[in-house]
Amino acid sequence: STVLAGHGLIKKYGATTALAGVDVEVGERDSLAIMGPSGSGKSTLLHTLAGVIRPDEGQVLLRGERSEMGVPPAEVPQPSAGGAPRGRIDNLGENRLSALRRKRFGFVFQFGQLLPELPAEENVALPLMLEGTPRKQAVARARRWFAPLGLDGLEKRRPGQLSGGQAQRVAIARALVVEPDVVFADEPTGALDQHTSTEVIQLLTAVTRESGAALVMVTHDADVAAHCGRILHVRDGRISSHSQYTVG
Ligand code: ADP
Ligand code: ADP
Repeated sequence: STVLAGHGLIKKYGATTALAGVDVEVGERDSLAIMGPSGSGKSTLLHTLAGVIRPDEGQVLLRGERSEMGVPPAEVPQPSAGGAPRGRIDNLGENRLSALRRKRFGFVFQFGQLLPELPAEENVALPLMLEGTPRKQAVARARRWFAPLGLDGLEKRRPGQLSGGQAQRVAIARALVVEPDVVFADEPTGALDQHTSTEVIQLLTAVTRESGAALVMVTHDADVAAHCGRILHVRDGRISSHSQYTVG
């Protein structure tokens, strides 16, 4: 069933149209790569789906959310695909939206997202601590992600003592620790060499899928995108083509 959907998304910056009317649906355990030339609207699309940027027009719907103003989900226009009720998130208040992002979404960026003074396990535990989980409990939950990501034994290392690929796998653990519904990754392999990039994308797609989350990713790298179930090509703020893969 559909977890996250964007309908008729339009976003303008002055005279620049970053999104010109985009429709996208993300299913359970789906992995979606967004590709396209620089300036085509990839980041804007990712950030709009993630509730970071608000569209000028259109809606972003997330499974299990109720719309504000007491509108029951059943009254929110439900697009074709069935499944659980979804509510709009693009019109939520800023506090509610940022709480929702922390709880239901995980984020992986290109680089520079780990706090250098904290050991890896505390970096991973951070999103849980921000939600109010006591430190000890948060670190215990964080540690469970180290083995699946091939990070056994690196729990106490500081980011400066990790390789680029290891640091990126710690960042993936941090995105997954809250058990999000969707992981958003913006050029997650952009700072890595080809060999490390392959290793990281294999783990990102596999571990995210096993966790039950969907993955939405922006990448310039066709080899990286090929690890995703679907590829969305964006051009001038529109989806220009859509390819479906069957990944094992
Ligand atoms: P991509 O990720 O494909 O490189 P972006 O989504 O970053 O594309 O940008 C799409 C278009 O919108 C570009 O022309 C970009 O310069 C413009 N844009 C994006 N964000 C902003 C912003 N905050 N202010 C002004 N223009 C922006
Ligand atoms: P990417 O390399 O992923 O395309 P960019 O360097 O285009 O990222 O954008 C990085 C951030 O800056 C994004 O959050 C985007 O919205 C913003 N941005 C992009 N273009 C502009 C612009 N022309 N003016 C202001 N902000 C922009």
